[in-house]
Amino acid sequence: MNLDRYYLEMALIEAEKALEENTYPIGAVIVDEKYKLIAKGRNRVHPQQDATAHAEIDAIRNAGEAILNAKVIREKFTIYTSLEPCPMCTGGILFANIKKVVWLLNDDLGFGGYRKIKATNVFDERFNEVELIEEPFEDLKKRQEELMEKWATNPNNVVNLRNALNK
Ligand SMILES: [Zn+2]
Repeated sequence: MNLDRYYLEMALIEAEKALEENTYPIGAVIVDEKYKLIAKGRNRVHPQQDATAHAEIDAIRNAGEAILNAKVIREKFTIYTSLEPCPMCTGGILFANIKKVVWLLNDDLGFGGYRKIKATNVFDERFNEVELIEEPFEDLKKRQEELMEKWATNPNNVVNLRNALNK
């Protein structure tokens, strides 16, 4: 079995859990060089009332000392995420020294930041060390798109929260 696919499916399951918890449907998984699972994460913004509790940050936090150890011994970790990371998570990924990033769905309309920041060439030295794989599986990409569509109708979606206020 394709391991990228296996872990992206795991990230999708985390995204589904997040949606069930009434928050943004985004999941992330970190693995080591031998594709051993290190940590899972999912968006927890609404359950934790924390605007920074994004899936990638959650996974990095859950990875704990493994991230720092990998930095010391130059082991290359991979993060799988269901959506292109935002600017904050892009920074977190670079700080965590993660060397491969794979995501299911590009985020051009939302807060997708990875490709935009990379394109500035400001942090070339960091970005050049990171392998990037965008949207490798059409069927899994569709599943993430469907989760995002469901999120659009969730009462916690900020648009819906505003509409509820204006009633
Ligand atoms: Zn983020």
